[in-house]
Amino acid sequence: MGGYFGVVSKDDCVNDLFYGTDYHSHLGTRRGGLAVHDGAGCTRFIHDISNAQFRSKFEQDVLKLKGRMGIGVISDTEDQPLIIGSHLGNYAIVTVGRIANAAELVRKAYSLRSAHFSEMSGTEINPTELAALYINQGATFAEGIEIAQNAIAGSCSMLLLTDKGVYAARDKLGRTPLVLGRKPGAYAATMESCAFPNLGYEPFRDLGPGEIVRLTPEGVETVALPRSRCQMCAFFWVYYGYPASTYDGVNAEEARYRCGAALARRDPTPVDVVAGIPDSGTGHAMGYALEKRVPFRRPFVKYTPTWSRSFMPQDQPTRELVARMKIIPIKELIQGQRLLFCEDSIVRGTQLRDTVRRLFDYGAREVHMRPACPPLIFGCKFLNFSRSKSELDLAGRRAIKELEGQEGPPPPEYSQPDSPKYREMVERIRHRLGLTTLQYQQLDDLVNAIGLPRERLCTYCWDGRE
Ligand code: SF4
Repeated sequence: MGGYFGVVSKDDCVNDLFYGTDYHSHLGTRRGGLAVHDGAGCTRFIHDISNAQFRSKFEQDVLKLKGRMGIGVISDTEDQPLIIGSHLGNYAIVTVGRIANAAELVRKAYSLRSAHFSEMSGTEINPTELAALYINQGATFAEGIEIAQNAIAGSCSMLLLTDKGVYAARDKLGRTPLVLGRKPGAYAATMESCAFPNLGYEPFRDLGPGEIVRLTPEGVETVALPRSRCQMCAFFWVYYGYPASTYDGVNAEEARYRCGAALARRDPTPVDVVAGIPDSGTGHAMGYALEKRVPFRRPFVKYTPTWSRSFMPQDQPTRELVARMKIIPIKELIQGQRLLFCEDSIVRGTQLRDTVRRLFDYGAREVHMRPACPPLIFGCKFLNFSRSKSELDLAGRRAIKELEGQEGPPPPEYSQPDSPKYREMVERIRHRLGLTTLQYQQLDDLVNAIGLPRERLCTYCWDGRE
């Protein structure tokens, strides 16, 4: 899951751009890039960050950059920022999201007989270049961004670096956040507001869905008003988002405490210790432990001194080996204990099964699992949530296929915690993972823990509602 940071300043902006772009979750991202406008034009650097930390790759480049406006990106797979020459002028662009109808948009573009793509990777078209192609159809940047927003299905938030300032545009349904910050002489736009405090910025507002603004050192100009319908991805509070970030007024860490507390209120299971699967289960577990008044412990600690956060081996067996090597069990905290773990979610469950087995090998008496969200049964169509190509990789969906004896859309009862089908699905997952008990968060509790109206949130991966 990518992210972006854009800045305009009365002074040189490169330091803020460098650190601001770095402050993201870096979950499975493979590329990073920076572009700076020096008054005459844009200079950019792009690096592969799949096996290295962003800062180590860019620390030499930033010495060569100078300018008062810049944009940076952490990108899932594609090279960004792109520098585009067009009738609107030269500009740099970064995007985050997933263009679900890319094939159709490419076909339409080719039918004009004047379009071409030059950022190909094999047969894959760079989605940022595709977005730029539609932007270039406008008479102005504002009009062009709206054309792109309306054409794109899925999601696409973006930053454009132009000689008239930085344009920031949130996805038309607001699936990903875009937050503005300011300090004397500078304005910035970011997906992760955790980028702001250490750089001296005060967050002052979130863009609404589809809203477009232009940042200059003098201020923020609204060039397109927010749209009324919002479908912000609820997974930002559960997992994607960095704990120190706040989206649409709700801090991720606080929401995780409330998630954990909600799980605890529905759970009479007696346990000795509550813990989180590191790192993303930790906030949920703290909320659970506080609510239930059970000691919070760390029977697993994450080994961080030498593993870079973004280290991402290509193949699944090596990824699983690395995931195992990164967390170290503490036998003294496991042996003889009734352990309850909070986890952000259960996707495939393969790593979790290994973790549970290790806990029993180390003498755990019981292992209970409490995911902070309901079972995932629909694959995300709107963001690059996972590398997986098949919904059947999801533990919930696989259990449904086994129970129904066939593939196909899951009957709605599997999203209803009171239904026998739901209970059978959960039991099947519990059995596969080797857990003592498994109890998922209920969707209403998750929505309440986030605290925004349900109709403003996307919950598709749990209930299939678009
Ligand atoms: S389907 Fe799930 S992961 Fe995708 S945007 Fe919606 S809530 Fe987020």
